[in-house]
Amino acid sequence: MNSTDFLEKIDLKSLELDELTALVVKLGDKAFRAKQLYDWMHVKLAENYDAMTNVSKSLKAGLMEKCDYTHLELVQLQVSKEDGTKKYLFKLQDGHTVETVWMKYKHGNSVCISSQVGCRMGCKFCASTLDGLARNLRPSEMLEQIYAVTRETGERVSNIVVMGTGEPMDNFDNIVKFIKLISCENGINISQRNITVSTCGIVPKMYEFADQGFAVTLALSLHATTDEKRKTIMPVANSFTIAELMDACQYYFDKTGRRITFEYSLIGGVNDSVEEANKLSELAGPLHAHINLIPVNPVVERGFKESDRSAIEAFKNKLEKKSINVTIRREMGRDIDGACGQLRRRFINE
Ligand code: SAH
Repeated sequence: MNSTDFLEKIDLKSLELDELTALVVKLGDKAFRAKQLYDWMHVKLAENYDAMTNVSKSLKAGLMEKCDYTHLELVQLQVSKEDGTKKYLFKLQDGHTVETVWMKYKHGNSVCISSQVGCRMGCKFCASTLDGLARNLRPSEMLEQIYAVTRETGERVSNIVVMGTGEPMDNFDNIVKFIKLISCENGINISQRNITVSTCGIVPKMYEFADQGFAVTLALSLHATTDEKRKTIMPVANSFTIAELMDACQYYFDKTGRRITFEYSLIGGVNDSVEEANKLSELAGPLHAHINLIPVNPVVERGFKESDRSAIEAFKNKLEKKSINVTIRREMGRDIDGACGQLRRRFINE
């Protein structure tokens, strides 16, 4: 593993404009220089200081001494022949790797980012958690996933989903900072309405997140309709009940006016019965929640299998009959290392 010295320095790209301004003034330069610097980092997406022609040599020298300028190294890029989906494996400055996915839709480009290196939530069907949590990602490292993809594709990103490796509510302060920076009107300025944050359901953090005053969509990974069943596939269910989750979702909706999404990964013979669809509709109904069905992506180490097409259709039909807003997640980029975390795992194992 490479040096972690950079973690001791000021993380320049994680500073909000007022914090950056204070730093620039402290380094002996004029306050307005901070805006120029911010523009280089977050609008022009400069990869290093070299391009920053209107930033003085002395300020650059001060910044280089005191700060770390986050950059990611592209180590692998896979492009789907089926739908153009791209999967990136980036190396962080300490040698860890993270996965980022770029998906092209009719309504715009969507990027799925990782929020942690690994994950400690232990969901039974997920590849990202197999080796546990290595460390949290800093706000700049989440931003840089989007910046690097923007540079590589040459296209603007319009939607962000925090659904890659990691549990965002387990890296709370950094996620909050990331959302402020990515939606800042002086920066890349991605609308909060186009951001979705997905959680396995850490209840106290869901309340805290609701209180931030953001307009982002919260997606809850539900995956089961009883606590008993949920505990068998998601260890986090030992800490919080479905009733507590529903209260937290109601609070989020009341506070933000944003409808909750329930994610429900259909696992063959485990959670895909019509009775469960019925129960799910009872949970979603009062919240006007949208349901996103995800045919489980088989992970070799996990041994779960996908539901039959007919079971998926029956499940969806049951929800629709109950007037629930439901979609089946399009399986994009299936030909390029399927489930989240698998590209990274293959890389580590090799
Ligand atoms: N920690 C966050 C983000 C995880 S990934 C969360 O739990 O929500 C986004 C979604 O993909 C989650 O709903 C997660 O449960 C689901 N998921 C993970 N592995 C999967 C797999 N192999 N097949 C289908 N869905 C999976």
